[in-house]
Amino acid sequence: MYKCSEARMEDKIKTFSKFGDAGHGGITRYSLSPEAIAARNEFVKRMTAIGAEIVTDDLANMYATIPGSDPDAKRIVMGSHVDSVKNGGNYDGILGVMSAMEVLETVVEQNIPHKHPLTAMIWTNEEGSLYPPAMMCSGVVCYDYLPEDIRVKFKKEDMLNSKSILDHTSTFGQALEKSGFKGDEKNRLSPEKYKCMFETHIEQGPILEDNGCDIGVVDCVLGMFNYRVRFYGQTVHAGTFPMPKRRDAFFAASKALCYLHEEIDKLGVPDLVYTTGEVVCHPCVHTCVPDYFDFSIDARHENPDILKKVLDIVLSCADKEWAGCRCEVSKAWNRDTVYWDKKLVSYVKKSAEELGIKHMYIHSGAGHDAQFAAYMLPTTMIFVQSKDGLSHCEPEFSSVTHCTEGATVMLNAVLMADMDE
Ligand SMILES: [Zn+2]
Repeated sequence: MYKCSEARMEDKIKTFSKFGDAGHGGITRYSLSPEAIAARNEFVKRMTAIGAEIVTDDLANMYATIPGSDPDAKRIVMGSHVDSVKNGGNYDGILGVMSAMEVLETVVEQNIPHKHPLTAMIWTNEEGSLYPPAMMCSGVVCYDYLPEDIRVKFKKEDMLNSKSILDHTSTFGQALEKSGFKGDEKNRLSPEKYKCMFETHIEQGPILEDNGCDIGVVDCVLGMFNYRVRFYGQTVHAGTFPMPKRRDAFFAASKALCYLHEEIDKLGVPDLVYTTGEVVCHPCVHTCVPDYFDFSIDARHENPDILKKVLDIVLSCADKEWAGCRCEVSKAWNRDTVYWDKKLVSYVKKSAEELGIKHMYIHSGAGHDAQFAAYMLPTTMIFVQSKDGLSHCEPEFSSVTHCTEGATVMLNAVLMADMDE
């Protein structure tokens, strides 16, 4: 078994944490921003130093490749993203890129024999925090392979027209042109040129830590649905209209939300998660009774039968009257559970086992670029323990030892995939 370097990983963590440093322990690094471009330049510097050949595709996804012993063999790719959410941490996404670099650096330094070319990759705009949606560029690259109702959200021309959430006028396409990283469509990830894909990522939850494990052998990305629940009442003056005659849409929604929690909890499914995270209130003025309120409900579980039961409860809201208000329920979108390639999962497991690293099977509750790649290529993920389960925030932390273990597990799993044909 081969091992990656903790010192080199620590140096990368420290270096990349400077690009977009917000001054209080985390980063804001929107895709294609000057900070993200500095991170890309650092990637180029480090990959050039080991003799990798670097290309970009038409969406500025970056690929740094070192040759294997067989020039005709398909490439094995590892990667993730360098962009972050606003006031995010120093590990989400970038750890997968640093681990991919670390694997290539270790292979070159230790002269590890391998047949397939090995590629470290950066996906552009995974978070979609400045130009929505999330997972934009993997959505475009994997477009032809995605299920119909996912793919409609990722038409390339729509993505190029995605507007900045800050100025509402500049587009992702303009940022792409300006970045200097726009390359050729023929360089895209494809099943013709690539054999399989690995993505190392922080867990973003507390399960590994709670179970005393350093590494997660990820077996799937959870299926989920996202619905909107809308309430229609009547706006009246807050000072003049008697309580019993009101049709308050906000009050109606709050009753329905409590009902949803009570009914869904009665199902007694311990690993089910569901969230209301986005609301709209109209007119949202303190002197007006709201005539309209709408909330999101996002539910995630591996088993489609469980999700169906939850959905039936959500849909039942529309059959009831809530504080005199009419209720409508509609689908935003959903996805089935995406299972990783069984053989690759077994390599990750075997690699952790043989290295004596404490590990467990785990599901991914969050979405990642790898899940779109999985429709196109054999793909899998490796999770690294997140301290206190925190992510998408500045205190997000994974130790240098855990980060290096993630890279080491990936390195040895990649070498197993390298040998399997
Ligand atoms: Zn991420």
